[in-house]
Amino acid sequence: TGHFDAHLIKKDFPILNETVNGKPLIWFDNAATTQKPKSVIERIAYFYEHENSNIHSAAHELAARASDAYEAARDKVKVFLNANSVNEIVFVRGATEGINLVAQSWGEHNLVAGDEIIVSNLEHHANIVPWKRLADKKGIKLRVIPVDDDGQILLDEYAKLLNSKTRLIAFTQVSNALGTVTPAKKIVEMAHAAGAKVLIDGAQSVSHMKVDVQDLNPDWLVFSGHKLFGPTGIGALYGKEELLNEMQPYQSGGNMIQDVTFEEIKYHKAPNRFEAGTGNIADAIGLGAAIDYVTKIGIDAIGQYEHQLLDYATKLLKEIPGVRLIGTAAHKASVLSFNLQGYTNDQVGQALNREGIAVRTGHHCAQPILRRMGVETTVRPSLAFYNTTQDVDVFIKTIRELKKVRF
Ligand code: PMP
Repeated sequence: TGHFDAHLIKKDFPILNETVNGKPLIWFDNAATTQKPKSVIERIAYFYEHENSNIHSAAHELAARASDAYEAARDKVKVFLNANSVNEIVFVRGATEGINLVAQSWGEHNLVAGDEIIVSNLEHHANIVPWKRLADKKGIKLRVIPVDDDGQILLDEYAKLLNSKTRLIAFTQVSNALGTVTPAKKIVEMAHAAGAKVLIDGAQSVSHMKVDVQDLNPDWLVFSGHKLFGPTGIGALYGKEELLNEMQPYQSGGNMIQDVTFEEIKYHKAPNRFEAGTGNIADAIGLGAAIDYVTKIGIDAIGQYEHQLLDYATKLLKEIPGVRLIGTAAHKASVLSFNLQGYTNDQVGQALNREGIAVRTGHHCAQPILRRMGVETTVRPSLAFYNTTQDVDVFIKTIRELKKVRF
């Protein structure tokens, strides 16, 4: 394996020079959001300094610059996901909006009472609540794929849930609460064999592994830019082109129409059909810059480095008496979820913050899976490629010292 210089990469992220409580910031909250490289920050500033305009419909130079940059960003997302066409990439606010779009556009118009939707026990609330609401409203049955005690999906149990009434499987490729990497390709294959459609929640996967939609073959896949070193307020929905063009619009207004009279409305095809109103132009372009940054380093190299770092941190954390690691699947990415005997999770979080280490404590918007594992909340450090073994060492030392004080 090649040499991966996380120390050098760290220099690309201005915020990682911050100090917190007099200590260098250690950003271990990457599952909540990631930090932004200078190239992304500068690209957004460049847009406002040189290109800012509304897009598509004007005759002037800046409109052309803004439109070109926006559509170039769409092409970067297309290449990043290995989609067939830019027409398969819809800009949305993030993973949450992408899922709601599919639930309201496809779900509302295509599902009827008696149909069944399957989600997994691992899902983030963003991939539960829209389906649960739709199910309650329309008399659809929501079924749940169980997990084993390590937090991995049970494929045998999943197979038993599939039947002729199954219309959709919506599941995450990486669990934000436990870090479990699910057998996504297999889940998609089994769904399609049963005649159902599939939505993959890629919010936690795209920053850690190559996500190739032609290989995985979902009908839809969503992700958020802010978890991929890009800005907040922008993300993408991938959908198969033919399917997107069969779907009803989501929101409606300008930009999504081809022709309007008071008698009849003709809609654009995808992606414009789903991009009503003025979109988040600057941040879409910023997302494009984030994809350029990640692509330059190489997503495979990133995944490999992070895997080593996660193994290193897992091994050290497990050795500390009183630590209960939650989520122990063989295949994991980025996330360590744990409790420390003798301390509340908030106390652990505060102790880490005193050392400059940012982690999330709480239920991580994934209450069903934490309850399945027998807890309400955890402490959750989550790693990215700008984290180093030295960062992990500071974290481990802090937990060890806490342990010494109480026991
Ligand atoms: N799914 C998963 C697995 C997530 O981790 C998150 C964010 N925590 C979301 C969906 C929702 O993403 P966003 O809040 O950016 O829409």
